[in-house]
Amino acid sequence: MGNDFPVIVAGGGPVGLTTALDLVSRGIRVLVLERNPTTTRHPKMDVTNGRSMEHFRRLGVAERIRDKAVPREHCMDVSWVTRLSEWELARFKYPNVHEWREHIRQHNDGSQPLEPNMRLSQVVLEPELRDILEASPLAEVRFGWAFEDFTQDEDGVTVAALEVATGRRQEIRCALLAGCDGGASAVRQKLGFELNGAFNVARVFMTHFHSPAKEFLQTFGVVWHYQTPDGATLIAQDDKEIWTLHVMLPPGT
Ligand SMILES: Cc1cc2nc3c(=O)[nH]c(=O)nc-3n(C[C@H](O)[C@H](O)[C@H](O)COP(=O)(O)OP(=O)(O)OC[C@H]3O[C@@H](n4cnc5c(N)ncnc54)[C@H](O)[C@@H]3O)c2cc1C
Repeated sequence: MGNDFPVIVAGGGPVGLTTALDLVSRGIRVLVLERNPTTTRHPKMDVTNGRSMEHFRRLGVAERIRDKAVPREHCMDVSWVTRLSEWELARFKYPNVHEWREHIRQHNDGSQPLEPNMRLSQVVLEPELRDILEASPLAEVRFGWAFEDFTQDEDGVTVAALEVATGRRQEIRCALLAGCDGGASAVRQKLGFELNGAFNVARVFMTHFHSPAKEFLQTFGVVWHYQTPDGATLIAQDDKEIWTLHVMLPPGT
């Protein structure tokens, strides 16, 4: 039985999309199955660290992605305040992209990443990765298609996929299946691998909102995070008008 694709990637989050980009950069055809109809609307990551940026650099897309991020000259400071309308208590200063690059240049001793961190919401990152991937003739990206099951034989893997909106099922052959379907991965579970690590690390109430009231929300100037002593965090997603507020839920709620 021939394979339809050398590789199928289950899950089109940051890891699945980046895995697929890596494969096409090596000339390997890939099918990505993402069960949701769109990229995430849930504001998850808001910083991509330097080591992940090194991958994007190697793939030749780091600067294109940075163009979508918070401007390179904006700092990554974390400010501790009593309240947004009261006092700034302390500020952890973190350099902007230009300053960080200069630091890397001056410490060329193997201790630094090749790339500075990047402030960019996952809500923006995922469509950018998807667009880059979809431009490759080697990639087929199916949103609204869930991985359901697989069987393995000597020649490869048969993946059972479901088109969520229609209920249509399809069996697709591949040589390799990559499980990039997140913390509750169905691929992992079907392989019988246990989750390594804690599942429920914190309980936080999150409010994601648009507001042009930048002067009010960044009273003490541009920062990445404002933190309060009772555990609230205000994240400036774009230093303009998109914000996320995290409030810790009391234990037992
Ligand atoms: C509030 C919050 C803040 C965070 N902040 C940061 C941060 O600042 N920096 C950072 O590095 N990380 C951060 N993270 C963690 C980061 O979001 C995750 O590490 C990242 O999303 C993991 O990517 P992933 O592709 O492995 O999984 P996911 O993002 O979970 O993507 C998995 C994808 O697989 C799809 N999927 C699941 N099951 C199936 C199936 N059966 N078939 C097809 N598709 C399927 C899902 O729909 C999803 O799109 C944060 C997370 C949260 C919740």
